[in-house]
Amino acid sequence: MIEKYDYIAIGGGSGGIASINRAGMHGAKGALIESNVIGGTCVNVGCVPKKIMWHGAQMMDEMNLYASDYGIDIPSKNLNFSKLVENREAFIERLHGSYENGLASNDVDLINGYAKFIDNKTVEVNGKQYTADHILIATGGQSEFPTIPGAEYGIDSDGFFELTELPKRTAIVGAGYIAVELAGVLHGLGSDTHLFVRQHAPLRNFDSIIVEGLLETMEREGATLHTYATPEKVEKNDDGSLTLYLEDGTTHETDTLIWAIGRKPNTENLNLESTDVSVNDGGYIIVDEFQNSTAKGIYAIGDVTGRVELTPVAIAAGRRLSERLFNHKPLEHLNYDNIPTVVFTHPPIGTVGMTEEQAIDKFGEIQIKTYETRFTAMHSSITKNRQKTYMKLVCCGPEERVVGLHGMGTGMDEMLQGFAVAIKMGATKADFDNTVAIHPTGAEEFVTMT
Ligand code: FAD
Ligand code: NAD
Repeated sequence: MIEKYDYIAIGGGSGGIASINRAGMHGAKGALIESNVIGGTCVNVGCVPKKIMWHGAQMMDEMNLYASDYGIDIPSKNLNFSKLVENREAFIERLHGSYENGLASNDVDLINGYAKFIDNKTVEVNGKQYTADHILIATGGQSEFPTIPGAEYGIDSDGFFELTELPKRTAIVGAGYIAVELAGVLHGLGSDTHLFVRQHAPLRNFDSIIVEGLLETMEREGATLHTYATPEKVEKNDDGSLTLYLEDGTTHETDTLIWAIGRKPNTENLNLESTDVSVNDGGYIIVDEFQNSTAKGIYAIGDVTGRVELTPVAIAAGRRLSERLFNHKPLEHLNYDNIPTVVFTHPPIGTVGMTEEQAIDKFGEIQIKTYETRFTAMHSSITKNRQKTYMKLVCCGPEERVVGLHGMGTGMDEMLQGFAVAIKMGATKADFDNTVAIHPTGAEEFVTMT
């Protein structure tokens, strides 16, 4: 017998959980299908464990770079990596429980297994069929691996979270969020870390002040950066170490190799051929601004759509979709403009809105005025390691509407959210200037730039 629901969500990650719970709050009977553990990428192998490791690396930085100049003597700065990992995983286990409780309180059935489509209204899991008028695809993505010889000797970010010992030497290949974050964490925790990028810098699509800040900071206190470095092959040596061969003829020996070269959507095995759902060349599900796929009654949100791959985006899109479908709000949808984002480097990077380059392309050079500042962060003003903060405002038109805000510095991760509200509301440079500064903080520089 086919079991009938009002709403079925495939994928128990950030987006699927948020959407099915919201539907349940409005009285829809929902089922959430998850093939792995509840929580998806963010909770199990993404934001959450990453942030814990980032905090660990920050603490090591405090001890190694600053403590002694503050007169604090820390005799043993040893890291017990396996204890850190154990405590991190215990926390994640507790989160699983709270997600399951949330689903139960919204009367959502959790089905454990891999879903495949039978037709536009039916999916099959473990040989049993389920049907609904509304089906959500929120299956997320997975790491890409290169196709070079020996690529299998490397691990991805999932593999990083499986490590129970800190590698002595780590090589990371990639130039995006994951590459720079893992490089910062591993370096901070004490692994001899090398980051390999194919061009002149990591995060090269970010604003120029971020690239400048990241390059300078890495040079002074971060992992070793190798630019114009494209891997050609990997070989495993008799002692278990790995040799990375680069196209320029150089080699690099390491204990652990991490590929962080991008991600691809989980659409290959969904049997979408049995539906009217269309995917683009990268395999991402094509959706309109209301998250409708090309099949009536099938929707997609989050990483599987390839649009701004961030947890709060998947959550916001999923909740709005359920408001539209189950709470009589026919126009509810997520506006993808001005989404703030933080890269958890050391110190963190925060950015919202357009880069200077994007703003010039969109509005013309004559319309754009920028304000920039670079200064030594106060916490490092008395220490040998001087850490700089980098900030930029991108303003547009005679009213100087702030269309972009970019920064790298201590506290940037927590600073950004409030500024994102102001920018979303259309704040101008004059609004920033009219706001009294909080002193002494790094954030005050954003409202005192001339
Ligand atoms: P996911 O969370 O990936 O969930 C998809 C779920 O679907 C998975 O649980 C999967 O098992 C399941 N699934 C797949 N196919 C099927 C099937 N056929 N049947 C049943 N179940 C299926 N974002 C941030 O905002 N901040 C961060 O700091 C951050 N850090 C990150 C760090 C790393 C290392 C990574 C990899 C990502 C990070 N992200 C971060 C991105 C964030 O994790 C994703 O954007 C977010 O998890 C996307 O949510 P989702 O619901 O689309 O997919
Ligand atoms: P990404 O798309 O950000 O970066 C991939 C990088 O790898 C690119 O810079 C690309 O030039 C490089 N690359 C591609 N092929 C390569 C090759 N063969 N050799 C060397 N380099 C190669 O991807 P990601 O880092 O996997 O992150 C995926 C997404 O997950 C991000 O875009 C972001 O949306 C999300 N994420 C967010 C956070 C956060 O919010 N802090 C953290 C991690 C991930």
